[in-house]
Amino acid sequence: MHQARLPATPSSTGTVLRLTGARLIDGTGAAAVDNAEVLIDGDRIIYAGPARNTGDHPEATTVDLKGKTLLPGFIDTHVHLSLSLETPPAESAARFGSERVLAAARIIHDTLMAGITTARDLGGLDAGYRRAIASGTILGPRLHLAVAVLSPTGGHSDMCMPNGTNAMPHTQGMITVDSDDEMRRAVRTLIRSEADVIKICTTGGVSSPSDTPHDLGVPEHQVRLIKDETARRSGQPVAAHAQGTAGILEAIRGGVNSVEHGYEIDGDGIALMLEQEAFLVPTLSSALRVPDPANVPAYLYEKKVQWSGIAREHLGKALKAGVKVALGTDAGVCPHGENLKELAHLVELGLSPMDAIVAGTKHAAELMRLEDHLGTLQTGKLADLVITEIDPLTDITLMADPANIGAIIQGGRCVKDLKGWLPLPPTTTTFTAP
Ligand SMILES: [Zn+2]
Repeated sequence: MHQARLPATPSSTGTVLRLTGARLIDGTGAAAVDNAEVLIDGDRIIYAGPARNTGDHPEATTVDLKGKTLLPGFIDTHVHLSLSLETPPAESAARFGSERVLAAARIIHDTLMAGITTARDLGGLDAGYRRAIASGTILGPRLHLAVAVLSPTGGHSDMCMPNGTNAMPHTQGMITVDSDDEMRRAVRTLIRSEADVIKICTTGGVSSPSDTPHDLGVPEHQVRLIKDETARRSGQPVAAHAQGTAGILEAIRGGVNSVEHGYEIDGDGIALMLEQEAFLVPTLSSALRVPDPANVPAYLYEKKVQWSGIAREHLGKALKAGVKVALGTDAGVCPHGENLKELAHLVELGLSPMDAIVAGTKHAAELMRLEDHLGTLQTGKLADLVITEIDPLTDITLMADPANIGAIIQGGRCVKDLKGWLPLPPTTTTFTAP
């Protein structure tokens, strides 16, 4: 069985670093450890736990972080880093390709600065962005990519207006697939393009003008077909955009690894997800967000009001029933750079602050099949850490503000250090210039 791709970041300076005095929330869900010690050698953690009085690694640089909290780098399993709410469609259509790429690079940077050291782009980005991050050309989260979104003609990924004109001709990665043969070919083509996850739509959506969450999309038998196809390769997980009850059930019965959104999940869906240990990615940052009616068409405002109410009720039940939750925001459909607002939304719908943190760390890494390397602060894992002065267990809403994410270490490299806490040279880019 092949492993999931581990996205690279540039190699660290090789310093041995001993972080002392801070409180440790390791991402496993275990109680926080006061006066902890985290020892980092190069890009890996070689110890994380209560402070010891051993004389090992005398060459280590010791950093006193008393009064601060150490957390794993967070993982957002549902973003669209090439989409932005800020750009009206007409302005977007007038852009040069270079402007689009640079705008995406800026968003990728801001996502990292929000505390997201790993992200899963569920449609829009190609593997060139991952290469640019690995080579150090731009700063950004480690990336898993869906590359494109699959739905039938007239479904959620069909950007054509009723007259047949593509309303979003510059958006890469929206593909329509109808027959079984087309589906097989589409999945094989995506895997050739380095897709790490296959993103399908088993229902319509809230934001699309010509379909609704109650419309069905990719059918159950094709979900199985995709699972068979990915099993022949490296077992890439299947993520289903699924909002209405019927399409959620088709997705789960077909064997998806994650239900994205899941707004109208019912008791049968919850029971099946528990049985199959499938992940729910509730994207509350988008689900609960009702736009200003002055800025959106009337149909969209009404749909958003209706469906945010449905989502609050049904997802609340799923969370309380103990369905495995992985953090995902759908950023691009909601604002970028405040991804950890999702933690507060998860708490609002019933998770404890500790369980919300686990959703954004350990569980998210499991969904991406990267749990051997990422998601928790434990011996042997990659040194992806967030350091903050706030107490997320007391007021998790404060995690939403990137100004409260004081420092970030990614693969042993300092990529953010607002207050000079770390002895490592911070990595600067175009975007961090004054
Ligand atoms: Zn999405």
